[in-house]
Amino acid sequence: MVLTQAGVGAGCEQAAAAPVVCERFDDLGADGRPVRLGIMGGTFDPIHIGHLACAEQAREAFSLDAVVFIPAGKPAFKLKRDVTPAEQRFEMCRLAVQGNPAFDVSRIEIDRPGVTYTADTLRQLREHYPGNVALFFITGADAVCSILKWRESAAIASMAELIAATRPGYALSEETKLTIERSGNFRIHMLEATGLAVSSSYLRARVQAGLSIRYLTVRRVLDYIAAHGLYGWKRNREAVCEVSEVEADRSRATELGAAGILGDAFYQARRDDLAHRVKRSRFEHSLGVSETAARMARVYGQDERLARLAGLLHDWDKGYDDEGIRARAVELGIADQLASYLDMPHLLHGPTAAAALAREFPELPAPLLQAIRLHTTGAVGMSPLDLIVYVADVIEPGRYCAGVDKLRDMVGKVELEDLFMATLVYVVGNLIERRKLIHPDTVTVWNYYVARARERAAANDAKGSK
Ligand code: ATP
Ligand code: MG
Repeated sequence: MVLTQAGVGAGCEQAAAAPVVCERFDDLGADGRPVRLGIMGGTFDPIHIGHLACAEQAREAFSLDAVVFIPAGKPAFKLKRDVTPAEQRFEMCRLAVQGNPAFDVSRIEIDRPGVTYTADTLRQLREHYPGNVALFFITGADAVCSILKWRESAAIASMAELIAATRPGYALSEETKLTIERSGNFRIHMLEATGLAVSSSYLRARVQAGLSIRYLTVRRVLDYIAAHGLYGWKRNREAVCEVSEVEADRSRATELGAAGILGDAFYQARRDDLAHRVKRSRFEHSLGVSETAARMARVYGQDERLARLAGLLHDWDKGYDDEGIRARAVELGIADQLASYLDMPHLLHGPTAAAALAREFPELPAPLLQAIRLHTTGAVGMSPLDLIVYVADVIEPGRYCAGVDKLRDMVGKVELEDLFMATLVYVVGNLIERRKLIHPDTVTVWNYYVARARERAAANDAKGSK
């Protein structure tokens, strides 16, 4: 949409009680039965397939009931290098564990002030969980070798058993293992994990060098790195990544559920995606447009579910800057549209979102994609859904601009096309007032709908005088 988002962002979501350790596994052991909980600590800057495969294989080999990934707040060993902000590392972990019911991610280290020490974390976990929950601290062989030097290593040994995963390039001989067990009182289990010679440093270096990290982490994490420009990512370097078509298809089928593409599962999954693609205020705006579009669809006899999904997704590509969105248009093969958007790259996100969503979710219906494509400029001969999304974008409850209330009041009282025209008057008037450029399509749209309104008025007059 062409207006600035003044005041958007004052949403009043209900605050759910914050979990203590993590959302999925706070109640482990509550029924008194023995539980084996794996703890995967690390900086996760970023999380990669080595971490995930290691955790999964530890879960399997040692019959762990669950594994919690705990990104370090301020890692003791990495104080010298610039570590990515904890919230972003947390987000990447959260995205990575999605879809594995045995995994979750915890904020306990992030929320604890000061340098992060494993002993403090284990103590916190021990305080939270009853005695029937046994803790297994999973680490790569590299970390085990130095564990005797960790702060309060004796305390660590008393609170958790260790699972030491083989990691290419780091050997842990039987002798070293015995030494650590004897002198530190540790119980160490060896895990012959699939040797994946991957590390976060390796991924960072590749991104920095403009090389692909496709298949080295999961797709959502890669998308997050791209969307946030982490590690020196240049947005035009790599196409959307597909970790595995099979995995994507499978998770898509789960997401679609019985209700299909317009069902709640797909909506929720895209809502989660969107939360990571755009700023919070933009995310809240999208939810507002979604609700408003659904309500308008109800009022004007259109498909409510289609409208709510179109509203949710209309700003799917709003996370890009001008340079990024131009590159995205090229990458999506719609660069031919660039000419007319030359001085208005902020309007390109409509067409790119439609193209990107069509590529990623081929099941999305064409009318929905069209409404998304047209929501920035409008077009001649818009469908009712197109009109609804265009109007909802302007009148959603998060907009506090003067004049919008008048438009809101018109919903259901005037014909949809008249509401659209009133909205266009408001939008174009605003642009003129602020001495902004108007996209040529929008000018054509204005002329077209003025002519139509005249025709409709003339037809009504003719009816009246009969
Ligand atoms: P960096 O390169 O920044 O040190 P990293 O890949 O080693 O990152 P960390 O966050 O330091 O990742 O590691 C978290 C934990 O995961 C550590 O216990 C580490 O030994 C283990 N680990 C990391 N990569 C692998 C891998 N490829 N295979 C097995 N374990 C791994
Ligand atoms: Mg490391």
